[in-house]
Amino acid sequence: MQATMKAIIKTAPTYGALEIQNVPIPVISKKDVLVKMRKTAICGTDAHIYKWDAWAQRTIKTPMTIGHEFVGEIAALGEDVSAFKIGQIVSGEGHVVCGKCRWCITGYQHLCRATVGIGVNSTGVFAEYAAIPAANIWPCEDGIDENILSIQDPLGNAVHTALTFDVLGEDVLVTGAGPIGIMSVPVLKMSGARNIVITDVNPSRLALAKELGATATVDVRTEKISETMANLGMTEGFDVGLEMSGNSRAFADMVDNMANGGKIAILGIFSDEIKIDWNKVIFNSLTLKGIYGREMFDTWYKMAALLKTGLDEKVARAITHEFHYTDFEKGFESMFSGEAIKVVLNW
Ligand code: NAD
Ligand code: ZN
Repeated sequence: MQATMKAIIKTAPTYGALEIQNVPIPVISKKDVLVKMRKTAICGTDAHIYKWDAWAQRTIKTPMTIGHEFVGEIAALGEDVSAFKIGQIVSGEGHVVCGKCRWCITGYQHLCRATVGIGVNSTGVFAEYAAIPAANIWPCEDGIDENILSIQDPLGNAVHTALTFDVLGEDVLVTGAGPIGIMSVPVLKMSGARNIVITDVNPSRLALAKELGATATVDVRTEKISETMANLGMTEGFDVGLEMSGNSRAFADMVDNMANGGKIAILGIFSDEIKIDWNKVIFNSLTLKGIYGREMFDTWYKMAALLKTGLDEKVARAITHEFHYTDFEKGFESMFSGEAIKVVLNW
């Protein structure tokens, strides 16, 4: 009889429907490693899958093990894998690329058109074990807390977006103080940004962003970005914008408050129609760039270096809740209530 393990599985195409089930331990291919999970983290994507919104309905095939943010130890190596050893602590890139297209072979894997998302388009990591392609494995450095190692995927989103444009000495506007927006603040700070202004509608998230180095926060329900700029003595608008809310009003506000020649990196995923004043983009010579995932593996290298030089202590503050995996429902509840920022599940 094949050995089994516990996994958190989306069992049916409806709200909730997540269950812990016994499933076979994955059989690895020659090019995979078997990772024994230590910690996984709940992403906004997992919340979309839980709630079974329009995106999830279009994208997810049930039944499926969900989850893509993880840290674990290598339990077995595929025949062709020589770069890692058993027992090594690893995380991994959740986007599996084709390895053959123009972008993949020229070092721009994050632009691969055939990307398969672990825990989205294929079996996820909310399980005692997961088979991960060795090409996606990221070896973790010693001395960094495992809770932090488990959230390198969203932290990588923050690092990728924050480092997209040169921010040294520049004024930066971040729209959305979700986990990624909050974690982008210390990255911007370490990268030499001058003013870092962050917006949200959640006062406790804004308060944490402030503690992590934001110059000013704007609760857009009651405050205006333009007033904050005036208070900071800014007269020409923001040089760099990071859209991290997925809210089209927030994005429109950002476009309105950019300096001429300003550059905007857009990470947030919009669920409704986006309306911005395109003439502002044109007459103010703005640059807009979409950001997807992390650069493989430039973002991971930069992130590892930043974690070693103080970023770890900052992002630790964003991990607000920790549960045993059998209490995963509590994890989702704490996210849905807006109380949690990052939630870690222990395996
Ligand atoms: P999140 O949804 O928790 O964060 C969004 C934040 O925006 C929340 O704190 C919310 O209160 C705030 N917000 C809502 N309305 C706002 C408004 N009008 N103005 C300012 N802020 C407002 O998610 P997250 O995990 O931090 O992710 C941020 C965004 O990035 C999400 O849209 C997510 O879907 C997207 N995302 C994109 C990628 C990618 O590869 N492009 C990867 C991960 C996440
Ligand atoms: Zn490719």
